[in-house]
This record gives sequence, C-alpha cells and structure tokens, in this order.
Amino acid sequence: MVKKSILLLSAVACLSSVANAQKCATDEMQREYIKLNPKVAQTQQALDLLWRGALSSNSMIYDKRFDSTYAAEIATKYYIPVVVHVVHDYNTSDYVSDADIRKMIADMNVKYNMANADLSNVIAPFKPYIGKANFEFRLAWKDPEGNPTNGITRHFSYLTYGGDDQAKLGQWAPDRYLNIWVENRIGRATAGGTILAYATLPSGAAQFPYSDGIISGAPFINQDNTIPHEAGHYFNLYHTWNSSQQQAGQACGDDEVDDTPPTKGHFSTCPLYDSSCAQGYQMTYTYDSNGTLAKAIVDYPDTTNVQNIMDYSSCTNMFTKQQVLRMRATLKSPTANRNNLITAANGAITGIMDANYNVAGQSTIPPTADFSIEKTVNGDRTVYMCADGATKFTFKNQSWNAPVTGVQWDISNGANPSNPTTATGNVQVTISNPGWVDVKLTATGAAGATDVTKKVYAADPNYKLNPNDGYIQDFAQNGDRDKWPIFNYYNNDNKWEVTDNTGYYDKSCIVYHGYDARTFPKNLINTPGGDVDDFFTPAFDLSSFPSGSTCNLSYVYAGVYRTFNPDLMKDTLEVSYSTDCGNKWVLMKRLTKGDMSTKGTLQTPFAPLWQGDWATQSIAIPDAAKSKDKVFFRFRYKPGVDATMFETGTGNNFYMDRITVTPFATGVNTILNGEKSIALAPNPTTGSSAVVIRGAQNTTAKIVVTDITGKMVYSTQAELKDKFSRVEIPSEAISVKGIYMVQVITGAQTQTEKLVVN
Ligand SMILES: [Zn+2]
Repeated sequence: MVKKSILLLSAVACLSSVANAQKCATDEMQREYIKLNPKVAQTQQALDLLWRGALSSNSMIYDKRFDSTYAAEIATKYYIPVVVHVVHDYNTSDYVSDADIRKMIADMNVKYNMANADLSNVIAPFKPYIGKANFEFRLAWKDPEGNPTNGITRHFSYLTYGGDDQAKLGQWAPDRYLNIWVENRIGRATAGGTILAYATLPSGAAQFPYSDGIISGAPFINQDNTIPHEAGHYFNLYHTWNSSQQQAGQACGDDEVDDTPPTKGHFSTCPLYDSSCAQGYQMTYTYDSNGTLAKAIVDYPDTTNVQNIMDYSSCTNMFTKQQVLRMRATLKSPTANRNNLITAANGAITGIMDANYNVAGQSTIPPTADFSIEKTVNGDRTVYMCADGATKFTFKNQSWNAPVTGVQWDISNGANPSNPTTATGNVQVTISNPGWVDVKLTATGAAGATDVTKKVYAADPNYKLNPNDGYIQDFAQNGDRDKWPIFNYYNNDNKWEVTDNTGYYDKSCIVYHGYDARTFPKNLINTPGGDVDDFFTPAFDLSSFPSGSTCNLSYVYAGVYRTFNPDLMKDTLEVSYSTDCGNKWVLMKRLTKGDMSTKGTLQTPFAPLWQGDWATQSIAIPDAAKSKDKVFFRFRYKPGVDATMFETGTGNNFYMDRITVTPFATGVNTILNGEKSIALAPNPTTGSSAVVIRGAQNTTAKIVVTDITGKMVYSTQAELKDKFSRVEIPSEAISVKGIYMVQVITGAQTQTEKLVVN
C-alpha cells in the first residue's frame, strides 16, 4: 500500500493559486507521481536514455534534419482510439457538447498532420523542421464491453469542480483508449493563475494507470492548442524548457529533443525571434549513420522555437520532426502500454477501424435520456418546493449519445408540465399534491427511445408544525419521518439515511454516512471532498414568534472525526432556512470541528453506544425567519478530506436525533422523551450543566449532586413555574472530571440521572 504524505490534487490546487506563469500542470503532477513512487523517475530516465541512444546511433544524423529517417518513419499512419469523459454538474460551463468534443478531435487531427493554415506563419529558420506526426485520433466506436459507442461518456459529479485526478471517473482500459476527461475547472482554488489542463507522461502512467490520460478544464478544450499540447505530453514530449524545472520564462532549459533549441519558454507572449538561450546552439554527435565512431556537428537554428506547441507562447502552431519521432517512438514502447494503442487488434476491439466508422457518430444507438433539475434565480436546484400550485420546479432535457427527435415529460402527482414535449429550454411545473414526485423523461431518436426518472419533493404547505406544541422529530418508524426528505444528489455512498439501528432514546435517528471506506487503489479516484448532501424539514409555523422573541432549532448529535489533526477536521454541516417555499435558502449556521464531534477521534466507522456519546446543540433562529407561517430548514453536509492522503475523508459517521424548534433558550425538550420528565443538558459536559424538568409547574424541586464516592458536591432548591423549567448546575460544583449522580426531588417523586464531566 502506498502511504506517502503527498498528494496529486493538493499540488495542483496550490499551484493554481500561486503560479501565474503556468498553463499546464503536467510537470507538477509528474513530480508528485515521482514522490509517491521513485520508479517513475527511473522509467523516465530510461526512456530518455533510449531516445538519446537512438539519436546518436542511427541514421537520424546522416542528414542534419533527419529527413530520410523521418520520411520513412511517418509513412505509416497511426490511429489512436479516444474516449472523452465529461464530468459535469449540468452547468453550461462544464456540460461540453458533443459538437465541441468533435471539434476538439478534428483540431487534434489538424495539428498532428501539419494541416493548420497558420503554419505559413512559422519563421524561416524553423520551416524545414516542421513535423507531421501522421496520427489520426478517432472517438471510440466500441466501448470496453464491445457495445456501440460514440466515444463520449457523461458523469454527473461534484468532482467537476477541480477534482482533477480524483475526477477521473469511469476510465476505459488505458492500454486500449486514450482517456480524456473534461471538468469544470482544474484545481479547487479559483484565485491566481489558471491551469488549463494536464496529462500523464508514460512513465507516470506506468505506475499510476488509474490516472493515465489527459484532463482539461472545459473552457479550454478548443483554445490555445490545449489538447494537442497535452497529447504531446501523453506521447512523452516535454515542455521545450523542461530541464530548467522552472515555470515558463524563468531559466534556460532543454527537452531532450535537439531540433527545439534550448529556451526559457514563453508565457502568453510571442517574440518570434528569441536567441536568449539558443545563441550558437549546435549539437555534436559521436556516431555516424553506420554506428561507427565519428564526429558530426549539426548546427541548429540559433533562435528558440517560440511557435512550438510544447511552449506556452501565444503563437504556438507546430511540432518539430524530432518531436514527431519521439512521439512515434513512444507508440512503439511498452511503457504504459502505449504500443498497444496502435495495434490492429486494438483497432478492431475499439471499433475505430470498423468499415462503418463515421466521425459523426453511431446512428445505431438511441439517445440516453437525461435531464437536469434546474436552479432558481438564487442558485438552488428546485428539488424541494411547496405543493402550493405556485412555486415552480424546473427541468431541462440533457439527453445525449444520439440526436433527439422527440421527448415526452411525464410528471406524477397530477402535475401538468408547461410543455410536455419540450426538448430544449426549461420545463416548469407546479405541483398541488404533496409528497415525492416522479419526473420521467422519455427521449426518442432514430434508433429508439430510452427514459429516465428522477425524484423531487413537493412539501405540504398545510402541514405546519407549531413550536408551542412540543413537536420532536425522533425519526421513529411510526412518526412523520417520511415528511423529512433526503437527497443524495450524486448517488454515492456519502449520504444521509434514516436508521433504525441506533438513536438517543429509541433505535431510530438520522445518520450521515461520512466514513470514507475507499481503500488503495480505489482511493485514487472519487474522493468525498466536494460532495453535498441534504435533508429538509417540513414547514414550521413561526407566526406567533415576533422579532426579538426566543426561538431555537435544537437537536442532539453524536459524531467523531477520523483524523487526529485539527486542521483537517473540515466536515461541515450547514443549516439554512427558507421562508419562500424553497426558492431561496439562507444560511443560518455553519457547524464545524467541535460542533460536529462529541467523542474526539475514531479511525473505524463510528456508531454511538449510549447517551453519553451524544450532545445537544441549539441554533438561534434569526428574526428574518420569524413571524412567517412556513419556515423550512435544510441540513447540508459537506465532507472534509485530507489532501495529503489521496483526498481521503477525514470525518466519520455523524448522527442527529430529536430535532425540534423550541421557544426555549436551549434545546431542553430535545432531550426529554415521552417517558421521562427530567434530563441533563449538556451531558456530557466540559463546564456547567442544567437539569431540565417538564410538567412539574408550581412545585418546588430539590437538586442534589453527588460525586462517584457518594459525597454531595452541590444542592439547590428551585421554584418551578413553567411547563419546562431549567435549573443550573454550576461548573465549579462539578470541576473534577468524572461521573456524578444528579438526584431530582419534586413532591413525592425522586429521579436520578448520571452526569458525565469531561
Ligand atoms: Zn504542458
């Protein structure tokens, strides 16, 4: 098992915020792969030595531009099977169209075949060196199971937001296909410089096959030669200034390719003639074309190849002949199985040499029906709205895989969509019958139809809970827990779930499954970091709570972290409210670290064993939500991760129970259940605690606290006036850590509770 304290993602995320002179993170990723596994460096050195040997010992130097070697080599066209995985969140900025992907492939074929018109701009010294790779990239025609495909897949995932290596979902066998992923952006950080894309060099891919391929930010796939550049890396080309190990423009470096003179590289500039590292550049070879010792001096251009696609300049348009030879040598090398891509057998397996192959795609597959649940103007998806016949759920056809000739929207709960055959634009629908709503889209194409059903929830506007009624959600089977809908938007293992296996008083509660169960090598992809999961409450009627009145959302919770490092305790619970039936959600409280943990750290999956594992939490409801007759609450969990450990989740399972909205300052009735009339809160405590007494108005209560030896440490008497009363146990009385017994005497009744002081 690899357990090194370095990580792929983190490097890129950091760099994107500090390095401005950067477009491509291939070098940084390669360095991270080397840190994880030194074999990567050895493999890369071996490949370079092999290449250096080839340059020195064969007929390449017979003529100084290698023209005869080059001409013989490129006579054979190599066909490369490609699959493009679009990792998206249905944003226009990441839901790349098939047309844009085909345009990207077409452009790769132009650049790898010297077919670009702007080659006429190549400066005179380099015109003789322009190289034609003679590669043809083809979107796969058969998937790994042998089924027909267009070579494009789509994955709905939060990982689109800079998941990078962790976003490499659904990889197809990298020894058969060049995998290209497209995500919303590279790197989680958005400030600072922009990294467009990165690729795996064959040496890195050999040790990390799950990472093998190219990943690009969606906006860049048809810009700045991003993908032709990354494909260059995939075929083992370096940046032209590679050996400087600096960003572009910093220091002279070379790239193991002799007809690209040494250079510092150029960042978004285009000084067509730049001799700063290339003055007097020539190479001496000590073997002649027959492999016998000789001395040949080749005088290359004395200006840098600013226009090289492996530079970052603003005017890239060419590869050189030696770059082409190096790429083609890579396709004959077993390193990372690059040599398997171009075999006849693989051409057949991937279907790209099929007689019926058509770059426009398959006409034999039906569309894959899909739709998005669109957002309100406030940015929240319309998954939870009122069944009031007025608030609008909004959907949009996103079917793919084949042209759609027609769609049909069918929505349950008696709803009538505005236009049931709308294939483009938004479909809006209001619901009058509350509950879960099935939204079904059928998409028809030339080769047939498919359908998909997704669920949204229409909240009952007439089901209103009054805080004065003492309502408590304890998630019991015979309660109203079905009115508290859960959404696992990305359909993964990290999710809220009602459980009947554990709870505060009974055996039921709600749990967020935050324990990251992935193990190596599965933890190299699909981190929980960035995930978002929600559950919602029904409406609470706060119309009798004016501004300035006390009203709290309270609950008991039990949680631990998986990490010991406080800096990595990043799990977050965001509690928001809506007073307009889910059109707009307003953050009320963001709970982190200590708010999420009652028991410190546990490295195995957590489940609470007794009441001492739980604690209470109360959140003051802001005035903006008061006086409203329908206030909904949303609980949103965001798992934290350790960026130095494969983005492994640092949180653990998190339990909530006895959720209530109460007119009391703390969540007193949260912890009282039907059978009990007293409770201690908080318990366990690190300071003071309090006795909460229910239903003993107009009496006197005597409280006696004894320590574990039976010695009395505190006693007091209190007059009870209200339905709920609260009697403080001061922290000074229970300053020694340990277990105390709290005896409560009201009239003829005596009850005893255990209090834990940590
Ligand atoms: Zn690069």
